[in-house]
Amino acid sequence: MAKASKQENTVEPKAEKAAREPAKPKVPVINIPRSVGVRQLADLLQVDSIQIIKQLMRNGIMANINQIIDYDTAAPIITGLGFQPHLQPLKEKQLATAAEESKKLKKLYTAEAENLQPRPPVVTVMGHVNHGKTKLLDAIRQTNVVDSEAGGITQHIGAYQATISGQKITFLDTPGHEAFTAMRAHGANITDITILVVAADDGVMPQTIEAINHARAAEVPIVVAINKIDKENANVNLVKQQLADAGLVLEEWGGQTVGVEISAKEKIGIPELLESVLLVAEMEELKANPNQPAAGVVIEAEMDKNRGPLATVLIQTGTLKEGDTVVVGRTWGRVRAMFNDIGKRIKKADPSTPAEVLGLNSVPFVGDTLRAVTDERHAQALVARNIAEAEKSAARGEKSVNLNTLYDQISAGKMKELNVILKTDVQGSIEPIRGQLEQLATEEVKVRIIHAATGNISESDVMLATASRGLIIGFNVTADEGARRLASARTVDIRFYDVIYTLADDINKALKGMLEPTFVEVIDGTAEVRAVFPAAKGAKVVGVYVTDGKVTRNVPVRVRRGKELLADSTVSSLKRFKDDAKEVAAGYECGIGVKDFNDFAVGDTLEFYRMEKSG
Ligand code: GDP
Repeated sequence: MAKASKQENTVEPKAEKAAREPAKPKVPVINIPRSVGVRQLADLLQVDSIQIIKQLMRNGIMANINQIIDYDTAAPIITGLGFQPHLQPLKEKQLATAAEESKKLKKLYTAEAENLQPRPPVVTVMGHVNHGKTKLLDAIRQTNVVDSEAGGITQHIGAYQATISGQKITFLDTPGHEAFTAMRAHGANITDITILVVAADDGVMPQTIEAINHARAAEVPIVVAINKIDKENANVNLVKQQLADAGLVLEEWGGQTVGVEISAKEKIGIPELLESVLLVAEMEELKANPNQPAAGVVIEAEMDKNRGPLATVLIQTGTLKEGDTVVVGRTWGRVRAMFNDIGKRIKKADPSTPAEVLGLNSVPFVGDTLRAVTDERHAQALVARNIAEAEKSAARGEKSVNLNTLYDQISAGKMKELNVILKTDVQGSIEPIRGQLEQLATEEVKVRIIHAATGNISESDVMLATASRGLIIGFNVTADEGARRLASARTVDIRFYDVIYTLADDINKALKGMLEPTFVEVIDGTAEVRAVFPAAKGAKVVGVYVTDGKVTRNVPVRVRRGKELLADSTVSSLKRFKDDAKEVAAGYECGIGVKDFNDFAVGDTLEFYRMEKSG
């Protein structure tokens, strides 16, 4: 076992420690920074690095000796080796280095106009399921991929480039607005243009509308591809009419939206579609300065068994070169090798190019930004700062809006628009609510409904709310369980109403800072009914399996059968075997009685919740 006592500077002074925890046996305290190299950690603990690597492996992390790990990863390892971890604040010098570096970078990236050069557009494909998004991406790839030297064998790296008339277009290879919006939720606005695929035999469907709203929320121009025109029952005119009804009037009908009729299957209209994309791109004047250190966004990341951490990065400005030192979110490294979309090794990647990057110390997150920096010292300082900032903004819950704190944000000048996602039970409620809300605009802030549809609140709605820092309003609807959980994790505010007046009144008060604090619901656990038993006085109790979280005594509970709500009551009894229990956690079975409710069936779900003051 290691001895850490020699390391004077890493051990807390004895007197202080004794004062804080007098009775406990002495465990050496190890001060470590927010990010620490495996080798450095081994030195601090005076153990062999291999011991650290083994412990990390046990925790499912493949690391090498040069790997940088963050405090949260290091802490259990340190505890496991018999020490007590303590987070060391950033040193002033480190902060200064990080600040200096980030200032330098910021200056670099706000390039002067004369240094800007045109760059290829970055395109996402969206649309309703089965309308042909994947088929279209495949068709474009087969016919237009830049270099077919590798025999047309493409590998999946999350993006690819096509050429038409000698010009490049970058396609993000994960279709669907979920991916698009998830990227935005991570803070990455990388799409320049979106292709909206609508099948001519099926027409505009709910996800078509959702895609339109997601693109609008991101202010990304839409090119419509009316697909499957080879099919006998294709009705192109009907689609155009439906698109116009959804606010997308095609150019040929006097509108502004570019639309092309295609068949992804028969490869009809593909060149015309790509030409249209280039046309829209030209109007957008997409530019970047290739002659500077690279900046980009991670679009895919994984741990490769043989090659180590792999990240596909979309370069946004500058040029990434082999050998560059880069900071990527909470990790860093040196670009050991780069590959393009057809698996060919490349020495550099310029703006709008997707490149698979090898050589990072650990796997970054999708949506993390990449920055090329001057050297390792700067890289480490920036990583430490990125981690500290992520922690700070997580603690502030910065991404979300909350009706209770809305006024503060408006007053601080941080909010000019209140984005609202509205879900209602019937179509007829949408317009009256929209009308009421849009009237509420004040001088400081506008109310903008970025998505309105019928149906329960879904995960996709929560993602859109996260991405656009919006608020969700449910009118006579509920939220799916997944949506509730995601909203709670992302601190997205969901409000439920059944009277339009109350809804408008609340928003009005919130805009003016007059809203009384409200209580929001926090779901603590869920359980599934496995058996129903008779109890005293004709009552019933159920044997349940706690599937998530926990259940405690006397908490509010909702009983659901599928989507139907059967009861909203409280837990009247909670037993493990024959004994009363205070709390039962996920993974255990228990017996439960619900106050004033007996009509249980096997398969029902119980949802345990609590009301907490919000904001
Ligand atoms: P996605 O869910 O939007 O990605 O849709 P897919 O690309 O998987 O396509 C759904 C189905 O429609 C598949 O069976 C495709 O072969 C078919 N499909 C896609 N495009 C066309 C087309 O232009 N014409 C016809 N006839 N079928 C198509």
